[in-house]
Amino acid sequence: MTTEASETTVGPDVHPRLLTPFAFDMVEFEEAPEFAYRAYTLACQACGGPAFEMIRTYVHRADINEEAIAGMSLRCIACGETRPLFDGSKDGYEGELGYGTALAGKTYGKPLTAVDGTPYPPGPIKAGFAYNGDEYVGTALEEGRRPVDLFDWFTGFTLLDGEWVEAFSYECA
Ligand SMILES: [Zn+2]
Repeated sequence: MTTEASETTVGPDVHPRLLTPFAFDMVEFEEAPEFAYRAYTLACQACGGPAFEMIRTYVHRADINEEAIAGMSLRCIACGETRPLFDGSKDGYEGELGYGTALAGKTYGKPLTAVDGTPYPPGPIKAGFAYNGDEYVGTALEEGRRPVDLFDWFTGFTLLDGEWVEAFSYECA
């Protein structure tokens, strides 16, 4: 029963599928009827390294003939391994439900830059997931998905001068 229940809730014992390529610790958890939020700090699963370079990935959208932001990857500073973190074509509310196909395709990455155009320095990463309302739980179960994977917003934070700074934000619904 416990396993079955964990797949149907958004409690603190279940985690978004996209975190699988990383070691992670939940550092924030908020569960409320109107809004839910959770956040994790990440480490490299290959070497345990705690610092990453953030890479924003892009894809050429054939339907509108334009470059579009596709997601975010992380490159471990200690061992150099790059792994995808968020992929808008398959992660989050729209991705999970099959609405992200316009973003599918060969992606390419560029270092994530601040508004002034300079790349963020490598450092610790926090991944945040926000859920609006509670209708997504029913939707997920109807569609055979895990509610925890149907987040509406994905946000990547980096630690700058001791404070978490939002570096990447993506609306999935
Ligand atoms: Zn590593």
